[in-house]
Amino acid sequence: MHNDFDLIVVGGGSGGLAGAFRAAEHGARVALLEPEALGGTCVNAGCVPKKAMWLAAEVAGKLGFAGRLGFPAQDCALDWPTFIAHRQRYITNIHASYQQRLDKAGVALLPVRGRLAGAGTVECSNGVRLRAPRILIATGGHPVRPDMPGAELAGTSDDFFGWTAAPARVALVGGGYIAVELAGVLQALGSAVSVFVRGQRLVDSFDAQLTAQLAEDYRQAGIHIHFSCSVEGVEKTGDGFQVIAPGASELVFDQVLLATGRRPNTDAIGLDTAGVETDRRGHIVVDERHATNVDGIFAVGDVSTDLPLTPVAIAAARRLMDRLYGNRDRPLDPHDIPTVVFSHPPMGKVGLTEDQAREQHGDDVHVATASFRPMLHALVDSPQRSVFKLVCAGPDRRVVGIHLLGEAADEILQGFAVALKRGITLDDLHDTVAIHPTSAEEVVLMR
Ligand code: NDP
Repeated sequence: MHNDFDLIVVGGGSGGLAGAFRAAEHGARVALLEPEALGGTCVNAGCVPKKAMWLAAEVAGKLGFAGRLGFPAQDCALDWPTFIAHRQRYITNIHASYQQRLDKAGVALLPVRGRLAGAGTVECSNGVRLRAPRILIATGGHPVRPDMPGAELAGTSDDFFGWTAAPARVALVGGGYIAVELAGVLQALGSAVSVFVRGQRLVDSFDAQLTAQLAEDYRQAGIHIHFSCSVEGVEKTGDGFQVIAPGASELVFDQVLLATGRRPNTDAIGLDTAGVETDRRGHIVVDERHATNVDGIFAVGDVSTDLPLTPVAIAAARRLMDRLYGNRDRPLDPHDIPTVVFSHPPMGKVGLTEDQAREQHGDDVHVATASFRPMLHALVDSPQRSVFKLVCAGPDRRVVGIHLLGEAADEILQGFAVALKRGITLDDLHDTVAIHPTSAEEVVLMR
């Protein structure tokens, strides 16, 4: 049967775009189906606008220090409309750059939704049916609202990016990446922030010692964290929204944001018709080469069972296309993936936490920790502390985990993630001359 394309990519976010570009580079005829703005969650309602807001919050923090350091007093209040114009310009440039690259690569961008309609066939929302021997599903995910009374009164991270001012009082429900990141941003930009965490820790996939210090940093900064506190509902009151949470006080807010996880976008994309297997949370099940159980259908990114991180989706899509069209097979190693929470200060990790290392290596684990005040914070006498931790295992004390909380942790981690992947030992770090005075030097000085 006639094929219109070699590959149809459903979804133009980070994973879909990366797959389309790489396949086209290898000479494949590619159609990319995306009815909304190019770039998906990351560019439009995730990493990019979030990082912009994080940078604004960082500047606000530094301006707060300026008076204490001897600079004339500054007005630290952010004019959101001005900042949002800069943020939007940055995003518009990304859209334009994607469009140019697609044109140059000869990828056909179709502004439609796609639905699997049997082997090798995608039905578009405009009624057109396209055929290709290979289909990549990269439709991403969306924020989920817990099933509780009044959930519809609260916003999600998508709504946050529509705000044009910092609300005076904000409640964040959840203790994961998004709750922690938005709490830090909003507090720095002037909101009174409360966070409702049903567990006993922030971002519990991170090292417990670091998350405890982050909670302390947030407490010192004025953020009110309610641990072991399950929100049971939200109600409208005269002057805002009441959070129903047994045992907690200060419960009326101008805005409530739910940051309680995300779900894959699998509705109406024809997975049943095509017989594509999903897990119990609806993610498309893929093997280490990103193939689904159906021949010719692949999936990457947040819609799949992979870690829901943009760089993972991009790496997966590129490797998949290299294999399908470039005769190069390098499955993505799901271990040792570095990740950063853009909290204030940022917190990053690669490899095993101390608890995971002890589970895997028993007593043969060596841990080195440094806790210190970064120089700027010492100069202004701010209580914020950095905690860096190395987890080593085996007789040669191979570094199996690196955990950094503190100023510039986000930038420091990348290079050390390469080193960890290359199998460095603690002695290799000690053999490296420090760069002084920096926070990063602590990584090679810890014993
Ligand atoms: P996370 O999975 O990180 O966190 C969800 C949080 O919500 C957890 O604390 C969870 O608690 C809590 N929760 C879930 N259901 C409820 C409920 N009914 N009531 C109260 N609390 C609840 O999800 P996020 O939405 O924060 O982020 C989604 C994913 O997006 C992240 O896991 C990450 O992979 C990615 N992301 C990455 C970023 C980055 O790279 N910097 C930034 C933002 C997102 P419990 O632990 O008890 O289940």
